[in-house]
Amino acid sequence: MAVVDRKSRIAIVGGGLVGSLAACFFAKRGHSVSIYEYRADIRVEDYRGQSIDLALSIRGREALRAVGLEEAVVDHHGIAMRGRMLHNKDGTLREMLYDSVKGNCIYSVSRRYLNIVLLNAAEKYPEVSLFFNKKIIDANVDNGKLKILDTKTKTIEGVEADLIIGADGAYSTVRRIMAKRPLFNCSQTYIEHGYVELFVPVGANNEFAMSGEHLHIWPRGEFMMIALPNDDHTFTGNIFAPFATLDQLKTPQDFLSFYQKQFPDLLELIGREKLVKDYFEREPKTLISIKCKPYHVGKTTLLVGDAAHAMVPFYGIGMNAGFEDILLLDELMERYNSDFSLILPKFTELRCEDAHAICELAMYNYIEMRDLVTRKSFLLRKSLDTFLHRRIPNTWIPLYSTIHFSRMKFRDCIANKEWQDKVLRRIGWCVMFLIIGMLMAPFVEVLAGKNAFSTEY
Ligand code: FAD
Repeated sequence: MAVVDRKSRIAIVGGGLVGSLAACFFAKRGHSVSIYEYRADIRVEDYRGQSIDLALSIRGREALRAVGLEEAVVDHHGIAMRGRMLHNKDGTLREMLYDSVKGNCIYSVSRRYLNIVLLNAAEKYPEVSLFFNKKIIDANVDNGKLKILDTKTKTIEGVEADLIIGADGAYSTVRRIMAKRPLFNCSQTYIEHGYVELFVPVGANNEFAMSGEHLHIWPRGEFMMIALPNDDHTFTGNIFAPFATLDQLKTPQDFLSFYQKQFPDLLELIGREKLVKDYFEREPKTLISIKCKPYHVGKTTLLVGDAAHAMVPFYGIGMNAGFEDILLLDELMERYNSDFSLILPKFTELRCEDAHAICELAMYNYIEMRDLVTRKSFLLRKSLDTFLHRRIPNTWIPLYSTIHFSRMKFRDCIANKEWQDKVLRRIGWCVMFLIIGMLMAPFVEVLAGKNAFSTEY
């Protein structure tokens, strides 16, 4: 292994969640880090970006813990959600705990708060410099050169780095540049559903208007509404629906009669006026899933977070997976003594398959959340999972728990679920044969009796 005797210059493109976390990890190892962020500094200027709340779970928490931020985020700010609360059309509720055996929870955290905590933490390291209003417009990914546009002064400058980290999100410029290279595979899929953010205000006595310990879901088959609690006792909701459905809601009247029919309880909680105002103030946003390979170029460029594997948000795991990328990167820096010629290919080798697996699982979970959760077969499977998990907790771990409450490789989470399906199918067949056998027994007895009678003669 090559001995790395100097600290590297790392240029991180994107100061979002994953980029600012990555800066902390590199700085901890003494590397010199520059973050170039397209937007203004969110600590100074507010902005309205993608979803306000995020669900944080073990993979993300472990990464935050490693840079001493878990407490600031989870204990001081996170709101524990111990399960789903399903809202039926008739107003009845059904609670579905995430983990009724060990009581594990996921945490609702504000994206802005989390990003601010991470930027502040990165800035505390003398090795880190933050640059805002800097848009990367071009790069030479082979030799670590970046072309940067200052969006305020409209000037362009060039910088050089030993390693470029592309943490510039789902529409990554770094990935777009890598895509021009041979042997780079990339696929993007827009789903035909979009989302609009809506807000549930505080309830009576400044309390939550619904349970503050759940992720609320209004599953309606083709579409759904969800809401996550905020620490000011409001909720941030999202309606996810086919664009074809959203397009039909052209006037406030269309919209209100849709809500009256589908989500009458939300009309009450939010109020007609606010609901209409919030909805028509915003354009529905698109949802994209990205799979690409490799994640690196030589020893000079690496994609992480959404730039590498943006996914639809239905498992609430995109950011957690991005944070886990950085944990893996750090483990590899430790193993290979910060020799990026070894680290980068190993990262691609270890991460691609898992990231592709979670992208697919996230697609599947949309169907589960908006439709399957109301079906008897799903409820039966959930009860079986809980029953078996309680009796053999280390052998039978439900899919959701492996994703959110463990660091099992994503591909193994899927393999584990497939194994469980197989076991349950076999048990199902055995039970069926047993029942058929029991039903057939009297006929067999009669036949056997006749036989016995006839052989006597
Ligand atoms: P981003 O957060 O997108 O940050 C990228 C940064 O790069 C941005 O700041 C951007 O301004 C900057 N940038 C872009 N281009 C350039 C450029 N050319 N030059 C310089 N800077 C640039 N994940 C969860 O784990 N839990 C959830 O509950 C969850 N809910 C979600 C709900 C919705 C509706 C959506 C859309 C996503 C959700 N996610 C969730 C996923 C999560 O938001 C992403 O996985 C996460 O934001 C990825 O972080 P990132 O830093 O890789 O990318």
